[in-house]
Amino acid sequence: MTSTPVLKFAPFSSSADTAFWHSLSNRKLTDYRLSKEAQPIFASFATGHRPDMPARAAVSAESFERDPAAARVGQVYLMRGDLFNTNTLDEFKKADIAAMTQTCAGEIARAITSGDVLSDNSQLHRFVLLTFSDLKKYKFYYWFAFPALVPTDTPLTQLALQPIADSLTEEQMSAIAAGVTALCASTPTLSAFIVDMRGSDEDDGPAAAVLPLTDMAPEMFDDERVLFAVMDASGVAAHTSKHVKGVEKDSKGRLVPRVCDLAGTMDPTRLATTAVDLNLKLMRWRLMPSVDLERIAATKCLLLGAGTLGCNVARALLGWGVRHITFVDNGRVSFSNPVRQSLFQFEDCLDGGKPKAETAALRLRQIFPGVTTRGIVMSIPMAGHPVSPAAFPQTMANTRKLQSLISEHDVVFLLTDTREARWLPTVIAAAENKVCMTAALGFDTYVAMRHGHPSGPSGNMTTGCYFCNDGTAPQNSTRDRTLDQQCTVSRPGVSMIAAATVVELLISLMHHPQGVTVGLTDPSDDDASPMGAVPQQIRGSVSGFSSMLFAGHPFSHCIACSRKVVDLWQSDPERLLRDAVNDPKLLEDLTGITEMKALVDNLADIDIDIDISDDEAEAN
Ligand SMILES: [Zn+2]
Repeated sequence: MTSTPVLKFAPFSSSADTAFWHSLSNRKLTDYRLSKEAQPIFASFATGHRPDMPARAAVSAESFERDPAAARVGQVYLMRGDLFNTNTLDEFKKADIAAMTQTCAGEIARAITSGDVLSDNSQLHRFVLLTFSDLKKYKFYYWFAFPALVPTDTPLTQLALQPIADSLTEEQMSAIAAGVTALCASTPTLSAFIVDMRGSDEDDGPAAAVLPLTDMAPEMFDDERVLFAVMDASGVAAHTSKHVKGVEKDSKGRLVPRVCDLAGTMDPTRLATTAVDLNLKLMRWRLMPSVDLERIAATKCLLLGAGTLGCNVARALLGWGVRHITFVDNGRVSFSNPVRQSLFQFEDCLDGGKPKAETAALRLRQIFPGVTTRGIVMSIPMAGHPVSPAAFPQTMANTRKLQSLISEHDVVFLLTDTREARWLPTVIAAAENKVCMTAALGFDTYVAMRHGHPSGPSGNMTTGCYFCNDGTAPQNSTRDRTLDQQCTVSRPGVSMIAAATVVELLISLMHHPQGVTVGLTDPSDDDASPMGAVPQQIRGSVSGFSSMLFAGHPFSHCIACSRKVVDLWQSDPERLLRDAVNDPKLLEDLTGITEMKALVDNLADIDIDIDISDDEAEAN
């Protein structure tokens, strides 16, 4: 007499595709972060494997999104899983996967004793996935466990198998097939059911009825005409027990975790993007939970000037995750530039020098291929730089081009060499309601400033601009300069400090509760935004290693941002430009400064001191 074989638990074999790990990385960065809570996921497995082949439980990118209500797709079943993410390799190594497996098995046992499995068979299949994602190296450590409740007292034995056609009639088999199809339609998680053939004894009774497990009644247990049927022979034994198996072994049969190294398969550009994002997101997790990285990344920045300030501002923006940077400059890289202008190299100076704007964009892409950047070689029309009637159409064309560039971007940075090149962009940015940021250098001093927004009283600006402190229109500052006045005359570190400061000011401004249109704030209010103070301007000096915060008020007669200038720009830009380039004094007439000066002259007996000195060397 041969003994009947004992029914054994056949372990699942796990399979995780590349897309699963990519999706896990994204979720780790955006959703899970440092959470150690169990996250719900799903694996899929199919029946019908050869008896000597383990069933494959596969996880893919869809594993995070599957709808548990649709637990079976064709002959592929879904299995519920608990995903545990650890945050360090040490934490991963110390994690007690046996205990997690035991807890998971407890869920299965609870579903059995509560009867929940009768209506939702998928609760019999569960798994645990323990991971550590080394996102900097793109390496994933993981360990699967598929808990199975193993009977300890009375082992289940396997009966002699026989073809179904030997026991059932054709009518019964086709009735079962139709019944299963109908039941599957209403119960997506179905994998076990009852076949009731008691009706086949009667003349007009059904050959076989297929019933859900919830219809099980006590009188069915000893009736041979009622069968318990499963569609999946690889399911776990439905027997509660404290004895749990299921922690997966590695390919060599050892009880150790596995590791998946995707670094070699990753596109390097994507690797760079992920790594850059990771650094910023780590900063958000640990230090600045309210930083809006998505908004920063989506901000389009226009940099007017690709010299020392332009190069350094671009690098600071890149560091913050800004992904859209456009340079405007008409200069070429000269031999003196690369040591100070951080995006250029010696070879850029050869053969007369490459265009600065295009070269800066190229270098930015070489540093980080994920950035969208371009360089526009163009002169910015300058106040006080007369243009002949023949050349004026080109000046107007450049003006229109500048206007469309400003309107395409969210933030304009004024980083040009000269004061007068900042005038037209200041006017256009005010008219287009754009955020306008200025950085300017003296020999050992700098200023970083934000311009206002035209939502102040009577349509005036909310804060002052770069020109609001001036009592005079810009003149050609490059005329009659000696050699020492033409070259860069600032201490080399000042540009880096100014560039960094103006970018940090923008980031703080973007996080102010009132948004980028906020007016003057208390410069000493460190709680003005989640990033801290949002001053209107910062003036610093490296001779005393000091910086001071100022609230620059809007000047109603400003030659750049006052209502009269912006109105004329909007009604007759050609006239405004012609006046400004040929005779900037007309701007003073327009804004009423001329009248003010006359008034002051007439009040000679009153001691009034208007300081119109230019304390910035305007070197870049
Ligand atoms: Zn102004």
